[in-house]
Amino acid sequence: MLSGVSIDRVCRDPHHWWPILTKTPCGVMRMPTETSHRPGDPISDPLSSPLAETLDVAAGVDLHMHSRASDGKLTPTELVDLCHVRGIRHMALTDHDTLDGVAEASERARSLGLKLLPAAELSCQWRGQGIHIVAMLPAGVSEGFTAGLGVLANARKARSREIAHRLEKIGLEDGLARARHEAGSERPLGRPDFAAALVTAGLVPDMPTAFKRYLGAGKRGDVKMHWPELATVVGWIRDSGGVAVIAHPLRYGMTRRKRDLLFTAFIEAGGEAAELVSGYQNPNATFDFARQLHFHGLYGSLGSDFHYPGGALAPGTISPPPRSHVVPVWRHPALADFATGGSAPSVTL
Ligand code: AMP
Ligand code: MN
Ligand code: MN
Ligand code: MN
Repeated sequence: MLSGVSIDRVCRDPHHWWPILTKTPCGVMRMPTETSHRPGDPISDPLSSPLAETLDVAAGVDLHMHSRASDGKLTPTELVDLCHVRGIRHMALTDHDTLDGVAEASERARSLGLKLLPAAELSCQWRGQGIHIVAMLPAGVSEGFTAGLGVLANARKARSREIAHRLEKIGLEDGLARARHEAGSERPLGRPDFAAALVTAGLVPDMPTAFKRYLGAGKRGDVKMHWPELATVVGWIRDSGGVAVIAHPLRYGMTRRKRDLLFTAFIEAGGEAAELVSGYQNPNATFDFARQLHFHGLYGSLGSDFHYPGGALAPGTISPPPRSHVVPVWRHPALADFATGGSAPSVTL
């Protein structure tokens, strides 16, 4: 494990994490301070540190995107190509519950000079609510993690049957076959495939309506009971020497207090980071959320949650993070290699 004891303490003691952080033996973290960056200042030495020291000046980074290995529409190669032309230099492919696209994406990223962090977005539940955890896996995966992916694949199968069964009651016949047809491949099915099936069957006018009425949080097609518990999934990530990141924490419809409880449980399980910004976010909400992340001593990540071109978001498109003391996740010692490598792409838009 690269992270070691001091990092546990960093993340578990909100009152003392700054002093501990400066003493951490890894030596790669630097403190973002109020005076560390002023408009017009050089952001960082591009040779020694191609990634920003603070989240508010991060550019060319997207640590949450999907490919056809799950519910995205681009192949891993096409996704990396799109990132390349958009000037992204540090990326993570985070398909739902699978690493199937990572080898292809890594090969393409290597040939184009992008840094790609092997990752996945894992499904789990906490207090009966569906939660997504991004697993950042710079050191590969443990046997436990691989077994965990098997657990998730089986859960997804059982869940698909249950979703199909529930949607029969609102008039979707043969839901499993229809969802498979919409997926267009043998990859594991997800709610978007059922949403598309509802649209094609004429039961709803569009995808947003399908989620709003039948598949969104708390609706009949939102089946969570098959997913493992949050602590289990975080354990697989820690086993692998990886970093666990709570995906889009503002999208679970939680109160701030409930998020405090989630973060406490997550940190207790070994979780170390959360996405400070996911796609478009209300700036006021993000500002307050940064304080909450800082209080809990969690590292901050950024990502578009890009799924396909033509939607509201493109790779690298996120609301600007506020200035804050939240430490970028790429300053985590386990991600030191990811943070220091990478050359500029030859084409940028
Ligand atoms: P699943 O992993 O099968 O639970 O499906 C979750 C995926 O459904 C998310 O990653 C999104 O891609 C998509 N999704 C969730 N909520 C919505 C929504 N309200 N509208 C459109 N797509 C959504
Ligand atoms: Mn998705
Ligand atoms: Mn998600
Ligand atoms: Mn996602």
